[in-house]
Amino acid sequence: MNKNPRPSGGPFFVKQKHARFSRKSGTVMYVFICSAGHSGSTLLDILIGSHPQGLSLGEITLLPKNIALDSQCSCGRPISSCQFWSPIVTGFGKTAGIDFWSRPYELDFGFIKASDEIDRRHQTNARMMYRRISYGLQYLSMRYRLPGQSVFRRHSIDAAKNKADFFDYIQTQSGKSFVVDSSKHYLEAINLHSAAPADTKIVLLVRDGRAVFHSGLRRGMNPKSALASWANTCAALMRYLLTACHEGTSFPSSTRT
Ligand SMILES: [Zn+2]
Repeated sequence: MNKNPRPSGGPFFVKQKHARFSRKSGTVMYVFICSAGHSGSTLLDILIGSHPQGLSLGEITLLPKNIALDSQCSCGRPISSCQFWSPIVTGFGKTAGIDFWSRPYELDFGFIKASDEIDRRHQTNARMMYRRISYGLQYLSMRYRLPGQSVFRRHSIDAAKNKADFFDYIQTQSGKSFVVDSSKHYLEAINLHSAAPADTKIVLLVRDGRAVFHSGLRRGMNPKSALASWANTCAALMRYLLTACHEGTSFPSSTRT
């Protein structure tokens, strides 16, 4: 195993390459926690995942970054020597024919935007701009029911399928009935639901906006951003999320932000 994994340095986002499982609905349930930042999603993830049949996975979208940085796992070990993640990453890589320890970002679960431990070689300004444009266009596409799927949406759906395959692989190794992903972003929730509607359960976590605002200020955010984070996610977007998942992937035309 490569103890010093480095990012691949490849293109912005690698297309789905490792969805090789033939999915069988009902094998494992994916619980996705959707919330604004600083709302307690990690705690809720741990609480739900502590069920005997559950498995708490944290913000799984960030796993490639954690592999690249060999971050410390919650068990206290670096992820490369963690007794849970090490065999999972190695084993899933074998099924895909990719060594994710040396090419972590080919484990593509969607856009990575870390706020605490950041891989500056990967999380560049250009990628953050690309993410913003992609999410903006995905939102507009669903909001106004534009025909067809944009290349951005297709990439996000492929990334969600990768995630579903990864969850299925974890189920085969752990025997658990459900896994918990606290990646939070509402578009990721919609895309995971689109990829596996029968298996995805979305939990909307809403913390008191005043507490989120205060938490944002304590972390150095400016007041406007600290408030917008909660308001955008909870007051408007979660309304769309519920409807989008009920209707497929389209936002209702009668709803306004
Ligand atoms: Zn661990």
